[in-house]
Amino acid sequence: MLIRWLRTVSRNNLARVNMTTDAPTIAIDGPAGSGKTSVGKMVADRLGYKFLDTGLMYRVATWIAVEAQANLGEQASIISVVESSSIDVGVNSKGLSTISVGGVDLTERLHTFEIDSVVSTVSAIPRIREIMVAEQKKLAGNGGIVMGGRDIGTVVVRSEEHTSELQSPDHLV
Ligand code: C5P
Repeated sequence: MLIRWLRTVSRNNLARVNMTTDAPTIAIDGPAGSGKTSVGKMVADRLGYKFLDTGLMYRVATWIAVEAQANLGEQASIISVVESSSIDVGVNSKGLSTISVGGVDLTERLHTFEIDSVVSTVSAIPRIREIMVAEQKKLAGNGGIVMGGRDIGTVVVRSEEHTSELQSPDHLV
């Protein structure tokens, strides 16, 4: 399995941030519907950082399993197809996360009813989480990135200094 951060970033400000050695990683945690992605994009845009929506990584793993017709009731079947895939995580000219498999950009195809209904099963598999978290840690280690996801501040980037947890207003959840 290969997950890599695409380096073909066209934004001048991202190129500037990449040259610094001390740009922090900013983790944005919070439950579903709390606005992690919207806030993360805005923060990244203001700072000229990359933004990684980690939910896309679990969604693409789900897409791979569905596409390969893996037995969704059998973890080994899902793990096998995900481990043999090549996933590219990137950022587009607007600073938004993109994700491809085998060179095909799937970013716009991951918010379907089918993916929504299976993603929690796939993301609950310990080996899948292990793979994704390991890759997220590598991406976080380079700094200059805002990462959004429910476990980013507690598992991936364990630093209180740069962690913010968003909470949904009661009337929205
Ligand atoms: O944020 P989004 O709704 O796109 O995430 C899709 C799913 O991926 C979540 O419902 C959750 O099951 C899983 N996920 C996760 N850990 C993350 C991000 C997402 O388990 N850091």
